[in-house]
Amino acid sequence: MHFTQSYLTLPATFYKEILPTPVAEPQLIIWNESVAEELGFSDTPTNYTKFLAGNETFESSQPIAQAYAGHQFANFTMLGDGRAILLGELKAKNDSTYDIQLKGSGRTPFSRGGDGRAALGPMLREYIISEAMHHLGIPTTRSLAVIYSGEGIQRETVKPGAVLTRIAKSHIRVGTFQYAAQFGSIEELRALADYTIEHLFIPENEKPYESLLQEVIQRQATLIAQWQLIGFVHGVMNTDNMALSGETIDYGPCAFLDNYDPATVFSSIDQQGRYAYGNQPGIAGWNLARFAESLLPLLSDNQEQAVERAQAILDSYPKLFEQAYNEGLCRKFGLTQTTENTKLASDFLQLMQTHKADYTDTFRALTLQDYSHDFFGHTEVQSWLERFEQSMGTRTSQHQHMMEASNPVIIPRNHLVQQALDEAETGSMEKVITLLEHLEKPYTYSPAQLDFDQRPPETGRDFVTYCGT
Ligand code: AMP
Ligand code: MG
Repeated sequence: MHFTQSYLTLPATFYKEILPTPVAEPQLIIWNESVAEELGFSDTPTNYTKFLAGNETFESSQPIAQAYAGHQFANFTMLGDGRAILLGELKAKNDSTYDIQLKGSGRTPFSRGGDGRAALGPMLREYIISEAMHHLGIPTTRSLAVIYSGEGIQRETVKPGAVLTRIAKSHIRVGTFQYAAQFGSIEELRALADYTIEHLFIPENEKPYESLLQEVIQRQATLIAQWQLIGFVHGVMNTDNMALSGETIDYGPCAFLDNYDPATVFSSIDQQGRYAYGNQPGIAGWNLARFAESLLPLLSDNQEQAVERAQAILDSYPKLFEQAYNEGLCRKFGLTQTTENTKLASDFLQLMQTHKADYTDTFRALTLQDYSHDFFGHTEVQSWLERFEQSMGTRTSQHQHMMEASNPVIIPRNHLVQQALDEAETGSMEKVITLLEHLEKPYTYSPAQLDFDQRPPETGRDFVTYCGT
């Protein structure tokens, strides 16, 4: 394995060199064959256990913890990798370079009061959901492995500890820029911006920092549109959890919609519903404004002019989001995007909300033209179906393909993920493995995929997630 650590070329204020803290009895619990292959982990998986547990360091690796700040539920705080350590970067077969990070690998100078550790349940949860997102076609960090540490960690009760190996294009966050802007010099801020431009392949031109802002906005607009279209609720969209690469990052209290309702919140710590499903596009806009603010000193020496430039670029966000979302929404109905089709689509969402219809299941039924569910029996849904049939005309294989490619048969249902994790905590990985197999082919309309039990029981619809640490 040949690790590089390009982050070390940045000013020292952006990281602390630190080694992971060894764990008692590391045991490989799950290994991602395809990610491993892509990254060149070609030995027997267990040969990597000690390295990915943090008990030994790869020869070429120079581990660091990254510094960052962030707005957590709108409050600005100094943060940093408190329980994560970046081992370095590896060049993958596709020629791209990826960060290899351990999460749960012990205390760092940024740990504040925390123990630097992570529990097995939440790390497996991140593994399952990040892989599901990847197969759903949504940009995301990925997961290479989970190692059980052989140690108990103190949470509300004692929990089994674990270390996750996370793979990302980059771990630079909005919060990394906020840290630079708040605590660094303008040279340091510029160094970070230049590094990011180079590292994230921002097209070069004579206004590099404006391009950086525009590109990050574009990537977030597309990403959040994809979240909305699939019914994903991130749960903790703090600015430190927004990656500039445009990858979904930090799977804490995230969950998927069952019934369609924009007010849906799963996270126990989100009492105000700040990060509710329907608020996500607006919150992303708010976070992007914080990013733009941190770039101001680079946009112009003249404060007023800098603000004007940033604002002009920020103003493109709502339109970019709408465009990506409306186009994707119409595709879910097998339709191309027009004002009329968008209206038809949003009327359908309204009906789903009124009748508490299951988001994934209802689109799947529409794709299969299976109108046996109660929802389709309502008079106003029937008249909507007539309008839909008129808009589409004869359903061709092209319509059908478009719908199948946009409406998953399978998502990581909250109750299924929970059952699998509960079982994993008792020592059996069977349910996790089976679930992951199904999640690999979310758009395959085969009998095996369709039969895989999906809908939560009515009593399972009040799912709550806890910010698992
Ligand atoms: P998160 O909620 O995972 O995005 O984490 C927010 C911040 O808290 C980050 O700076 C983390 O590194 C830090 N943090 C979370 N859990 C722990 C822990 N167990 N020990 C130390 N720091 C932690
Ligand atoms: Mg975080």
